[in-house]
Amino acid sequence: RAKGSGRSSVGLFDLDLSRQRARRHAVSVELRGALDRGALHLQYQPIQTLREGHLLAAEALARWHSPLLGRVGPDEFIPVAEETGQILQLGEWVLNQAVQQAAAWRRAGRRVQVSVNVSPLQFLHSDFAQVTRAALDAAGLPPDLLQLEITESAVMRDVHRTRHQCEQLRALGVQLALDDFGTGHSSLATLHTLDFHVLKLDRAFVWGLEGDPRREALLRSVVTLAQSLSMDIVAEGIETAAQRRLLIDLGCRLGQGYHLARPLDVPDFERTFLNRA
Ligand code: C2E
Ligand code: MG
Ligand code: MG
Ligand code: MG
Repeated sequence: RAKGSGRSSVGLFDLDLSRQRARRHAVSVELRGALDRGALHLQYQPIQTLREGHLLAAEALARWHSPLLGRVGPDEFIPVAEETGQILQLGEWVLNQAVQQAAAWRRAGRRVQVSVNVSPLQFLHSDFAQVTRAALDAAGLPPDLLQLEITESAVMRDVHRTRHQCEQLRALGVQLALDDFGTGHSSLATLHTLDFHVLKLDRAFVWGLEGDPRREALLRSVVTLAQSLSMDIVAEGIETAAQRRLLIDLGCRLGQGYHLARPLDVPDFERTFLNRA
């Protein structure tokens, strides 16, 4: 991180940059073949109704344990994979894995929608709708049990292509969610024409809420806007009972966060959320 204060020396700055570059390189080299070695897996974090705690969906989150580097988080390896193009293969693996999981739950009599993060390169790739369709077909999953999450900043990179892709995916019958909303500077007009089903409110938004009346007012208007566009809102990163309470009071129905449940390995997820009588 070269943007901290006290980094006035050019030498230090260069050293920082080259360390960063070396780390990125190591990550990309290790990531190559990680899929084949079975070093990646998915955790699932519940998306629930805030009031009753009903399970609605599960967000699939990629986890990677490298023998050489140890645990590397998706915030680090996804951007590297995006830069090297590895994301196409990785993203397709995640998608297939999650869709198969939802199909398995469905066969077991549980209706759980899976929500899959899609990176910009993957999403804007011309055959993404076909890849998605192939994944659904292979698993025999009804399309409405799949939700795709695209970040707001990815959308803003290429609104035109995004609109085209959204239309194709909508036609398939999958749900579309705008992830990290509130961080990517999308305009209301853009939001309106893109026609997402769900708006995921970034946790930065949620964390700033308590004791900030202007934020509260802003959130209230976002909720109203979403309602008028027939979108659902999911609040991300809820860590306290107070945040949950406040979100309910502001008219937010759905949420996700450590206060409700952490991302879980499949057996833990099933034990906690699917095996209840
Ligand atoms: P995201 O899609 O916004 O996912 C939510 C992130 O917030 C996850 O981090 C989750 O573990 C974390 N989180 C959930 N509740 C809380 C909370 O109450 N407090 C805090 N502090 N954090 C919470 P994670 O798993 O580290 O993933 C980070 C990001 O990496 C994701 O952000 C997503 O953008 C990306 N990502 C993860 N898996 C994939 C994937 O399979 N494909 C792609 N393209 N991106 C992925
Ligand atoms: Mg997400
Ligand atoms: Mg998010
Ligand atoms: Mg995020």
